[in-house]
Amino acid sequence: MSDSRLMISVSGIRGVVGQSLTPEKVVKFASAFGTWCGGGKVVVGRDSRVSGEMVRGLVVSSLIASGCDVVDIGLAATPTVEITTKNLKARGGIAITASHNPIQWNALKLIGPRGMFLTESQSAEVLEIAKNRNFVYAPWDSLGRLILQPDASKIHLQTILDLDLIDVPKIQARSFKVVLDCVAGAGALIAPLLLQALGCEAHYLHCEPHGIFPRNPEPSAENLKELSEATLKHQADLGIAIDPDADRVAFVSEKGIPLGEEYSLALAVAFVTKRKKGAVVLNASTSLASEDIALQNGCDVFRTRVGEINVSTRMQELDAVIGGEGNGGVILPEVHLGRDAATGIALVLQLMTEQGKPLSEIHQALPQYSIVKDRIELGKTDPDAAIERIQADFSKNRIDLTDGVKILFDRSWVHIRKSNTEPIVRVIAEAPTRDAAAALCKKLRDAFES
Ligand code: MG
Repeated sequence: MSDSRLMISVSGIRGVVGQSLTPEKVVKFASAFGTWCGGGKVVVGRDSRVSGEMVRGLVVSSLIASGCDVVDIGLAATPTVEITTKNLKARGGIAITASHNPIQWNALKLIGPRGMFLTESQSAEVLEIAKNRNFVYAPWDSLGRLILQPDASKIHLQTILDLDLIDVPKIQARSFKVVLDCVAGAGALIAPLLLQALGCEAHYLHCEPHGIFPRNPEPSAENLKELSEATLKHQADLGIAIDPDADRVAFVSEKGIPLGEEYSLALAVAFVTKRKKGAVVLNASTSLASEDIALQNGCDVFRTRVGEINVSTRMQELDAVIGGEGNGGVILPEVHLGRDAATGIALVLQLMTEQGKPLSEIHQALPQYSIVKDRIELGKTDPDAAIERIQADFSKNRIDLTDGVKILFDRSWVHIRKSNTEPIVRVIAEAPTRDAAAALCKKLRDAFES
């Protein structure tokens, strides 16, 4: 991977600290964002990365220089930054986090006035200001102020506990045994409090938010060995893993088996669509399991391009009952139109409370699919030309061009697209068995590289 490239996308800017993400770049983009906001309140929070304090200083100073009042919520999950931006009716927010990327990365995720990530056109406006260095800096007597807001995580938590869908005393009565792995990230600011409020007997793995990730921070099944073992050792009802900025969640059954991130959303969809009828919005790469469940429960399913803002925007348009991304990103509009691990945890505990069965049995009763994900590092192949060629090769199949190229078969599909956040091409395939999905992935990789 070319670590020297700063990734600039609709998701914000992202790079390796000291290489592509230099102080100058942070000041440039934060100043552009402050100029775009044009004063008023801007919420700033960060995940626990070691570089977070350095980046925070640059971001806060740049925003104050642009005449914005910074509401600093300190260490916080990305959804907490979004929710605070919405609650305070702020002009925008910046979450300082590189999400699931390894420890040497950091990033600015830019949030718009409704607490949702910037849309493509809003993002283009900010990037244009940055490119032309059209910064507006305030004179001494109209610099912004710094306001500390240490209660943001508690307010976020209370929003979840107050949901009609969540029956706190009923969950408390179950006294669930839980092992929680926060990967030393910002989830530690909210998830332990949530489990305490829901009366769980919790064992904590890596719930000190010091930012030295003890494992690959992506909560995918292959990274959850320690959590699986701890879940078995403590004879827990479930294990829970969160990514460093707590917008993604994954579950491990009482048998110590990771259910895979796709089933976080599938479980949440199963619970919500039993109670509420309406639109369900999924991104193009999300499992057919969530789609099948929503359809079985009489809800319509809509697909969008990958990326939280694409799902959130469509959910808002359709007044959706639930939505999300298959990477463990659950979006419940009553809390906020953004992915939220804590909301996903509450919904799954409520589902387990009502079904009264072990998590492995609840999972087994859902439609079973396997997803295989592959990544191709960008080498000599021109990705756009290769993807176009693949589209032509499969022109006899049903093809969805919502995002990259998705080729659909009966009960299976394969999807190839350029990553928004890394210099790679992602290939994702789904089929009823793992072997069939792996074969589809390989077919596309071969076609890409041929
Ligand atoms: Mg994340």
